[in-house]
Amino acid sequence: MALETDQLGKRYGDTWALRDCSLHLPEGRIAALVGPNGAGKTTLLHMAVGLLRPDAGAASVFGRSPYDDTAVLADIGFVAQDTPLYPDFTAAELITMGGKLNKVWDDALARTRLAQLGIPPDKPVGKLSGGQRAQVALALALAKRPRLLLLDEPVASLDPLARREFLQALMGSVADSGTTVLLSSHLLADLERVCDYLIVLNSAQVQLVGPVDDLVAEHCRLVGPRHDGEPIAGVAAIVRASHTDRQSTLLVRTDGPITDPAWTVHEVTLEDLILTYLAEGETQGSHEAWGVTA
Ligand code: ATP
Repeated sequence: MALETDQLGKRYGDTWALRDCSLHLPEGRIAALVGPNGAGKTTLLHMAVGLLRPDAGAASVFGRSPYDDTAVLADIGFVAQDTPLYPDFTAAELITMGGKLNKVWDDALARTRLAQLGIPPDKPVGKLSGGQRAQVALALALAKRPRLLLLDEPVASLDPLARREFLQALMGSVADSGTTVLLSSHLLADLERVCDYLIVLNSAQVQLVGPVDDLVAEHCRLVGPRHDGEPIAGVAAIVRASHTDRQSTLLVRTDGPITDPAWTVHEVTLEDLILTYLAEGETQGSHEAWGVTA
């Protein structure tokens, strides 16, 4: 496992920013970390990179605690939400500094990437645009050749074209190296294109976790006669239901084929699934996490 958490929790005063968070992220995956503002995404990433000490449970990266065993940090690349970089340093100077601070460092990768993007290497990064700074931060993180790359909303400040290029470059570079990526974002269409693993957080808790293909395959939308709670063969759980006088539409998790001819079965997209779980979390608060083993 690249990242594993067991009942992980972080509390600020009386409020849990993250609670009972248990999940596995297998090596080699590109995982989306999704949830509304304040769900606990940044808190989870900060504990995964050892910036925060857990108040409950444990986090481990490649079997080691990132907070207690700092040697594992050499395997982790992290780009924080506000891409903090020393503003008076130029990109070229930051690349040189990275080479001196890290045992493994691919200088050429960082320089080539910035040249391809037309980012001036000799301008203080404080004077670059927000999107250019995000690109510099990613180039630095990739140059470290990390085994696990954690990105907190990396594309939020990029224009649509730069966003697509950024995600393509990310996929290309991790496909070559086998790096595991955990990427938080609110841009579901982007995530659908690049991610093969999903973690949904809501109200400080994990709601859904597993490989995207499995999660999509085991959910569907059923449309049929008004449903009053009677069991439906093949349905393990109803995630969300809406009703008219005569008809019900149910987003369900299945545990077998739906054979009852009264119900029409429609496939769901990843976006449908995420939005449904998030809406369900909004209305019901905490919720048992549905997990799929990788
Ligand atoms: P966003 O999508 O807005 O970035 P997020 O999912 O990353 O949100 P977190 O930043 O992890 O959310 O915050 C989770 C909760 O913890 C929020 O309720 C937030 O107010 C609270 N929180 C985060 N950092 C602190 C802090 N330093 N002190 C007190 N509360 C905090």
